[in-house]
Amino acid sequence: MQAALDLADQGFQVALVEREPSIGGKMITLSKVFPTLDCCSCITTPKMSAVAHHPKIRLLTYCELQSVADEGPGFRATVLQKPRYVDAHKCTGCRECEYACPVTVSSPFDRGLGAYRAIRVPFSTAVPQIAVLDIDNCFLCGKCEKACSAGAVDLLQQPETFEIAAATIVMASGFDLTPVGAKKEFGGGVFRNVIDPLMMERFLAPTGPYGRVLRPGDGKEPTSIAYVQCAGSRDQTLGVEYCSRVCCMYAVKQAMLISGALPMAEVTIYYMDIRTFGKGYEQFYQNAQAMGVEFVRGKVASIHEDAEKNPIVKVELTDDGRIVERTHDLVVLSLGMLPAYQSRGAVDLPLGNDHFVAVPAPNASPCATGRSGIFVTGTAMGPMDIVDSIVSAGAVAAAVSAYIRERQDGRTAPHDQQEALRA
Ligand SMILES: Cc1cc2nc3c(=O)[nH]c(=O)nc-3n(C[C@H](O)[C@H](O)[C@H](O)COP(=O)(O)OP(=O)(O)OC[C@H]3O[C@@H](n4cnc5c(N)ncnc54)[C@H](O)[C@@H]3O)c2cc1C
Ligand code: SF4
Ligand code: SF4
Repeated sequence: MQAALDLADQGFQVALVEREPSIGGKMITLSKVFPTLDCCSCITTPKMSAVAHHPKIRLLTYCELQSVADEGPGFRATVLQKPRYVDAHKCTGCRECEYACPVTVSSPFDRGLGAYRAIRVPFSTAVPQIAVLDIDNCFLCGKCEKACSAGAVDLLQQPETFEIAAATIVMASGFDLTPVGAKKEFGGGVFRNVIDPLMMERFLAPTGPYGRVLRPGDGKEPTSIAYVQCAGSRDQTLGVEYCSRVCCMYAVKQAMLISGALPMAEVTIYYMDIRTFGKGYEQFYQNAQAMGVEFVRGKVASIHEDAEKNPIVKVELTDDGRIVERTHDLVVLSLGMLPAYQSRGAVDLPLGNDHFVAVPAPNASPCATGRSGIFVTGTAMGPMDIVDSIVSAGAVAAAVSAYIRERQDGRTAPHDQQEALRA
């Protein structure tokens, strides 16, 4: 979104392709942001709106890039428009269809913690405010069609493909969380009171499904909550050897927010090292310690459950080598980042050893990929937080702008990407 806005503000025409029915990325699902604890929705929603209203940006939601071919000096991209079963030109976002629909389905936006209807506007601040129908769960009862005074519901809508001619492509496909069940010994995906950190974000978010923190297993308010750090990063057994860079900070942030939401609760963070590398981050960590968050240095070996479904964490303490077991009400696995592009990429791009998009010359051209004219930004190139993603978006906008202008002028780019790759 930020790269699109920066380029559009310079006068370039931008097509923004988003696979979900709304833009916003992971950020729109978060509660508050470290290190300022600003409301995430309050920062993201105006950006989403600016993208939607920018005259130079063509917003293509619920679309997937299918393929990219070289064409002349640029590219021809084939894009699939997935059917919403709702006419985007007619839908007003009034939600009458949603109120009429009798089918309840689990909400991916709320990480399965909440539910919504088979037809719905994706979430309250979604951009665009256009309904989408989940055909796999639809009864085809026709109630939404009758309720829609705009005549927008179209159960016969088909997928469509179209093409876009582009001078350059920017990969901004972001990250996915390490699957919660990746480390079987932690019981993620099996024990209901062992959850992923985006679930905790939804518990803590003002827009979340409950407006409070509770145990998914039985709905009780937890009084003892633990975080297991590096539960999917710096782990050779998973093939994820890198540090995901945000997990320490989001765990510290969530611990502070929980201390505010549940003042009587004890919060423990089991860690190998705490990495607080950014501006103001070390102070943020110290504030959490001052608030009473317990930091326990050790290596968590496994998690099992007692009869009351309380997770029991088995940890080897680094200080004295003792192995202890501690019982908590709720455990959050601080999962790492995997590249979203890795599994779904339609663009043929060289990847690094970490499977993120390779940046052959990061010191010379930090956003140039191994393919001339294709750039990368944000967590598509590697783990980073929002601040660094925004900086990277500004950098990619500058690089793209220079690339296009140099080609228009008939000059050779000073840091030609193929040169960089050879170097
Ligand atoms: C639990 C948690 C808490 C966090 N808290 C903070 C915080 O407090 N402060 C902070 O600075 N950072 C935080 N982060 C990190 C933050 O989420 C990321 O830095 C940020 O979301 C990266 O933005 P991005 O645009 O690179 O990727 P994403 O947010 O992943 O966005 C990528 C977008 O690309 C779309 N996409 C992917 N593949 C395709 C495709 N093939 N076709 C079309 N579209 C596609 C996705 O749907 C998505 O909309 C947190 C992360 C987690 C996991
Ligand atoms: S599909 Fe119809 S009823 Fe549903 S939100 Fe759109 S206009 Fe309203
Ligand atoms: S047709 Fe499908 S989406 Fe529409 S109301 Fe019936 S079940 Fe819900």
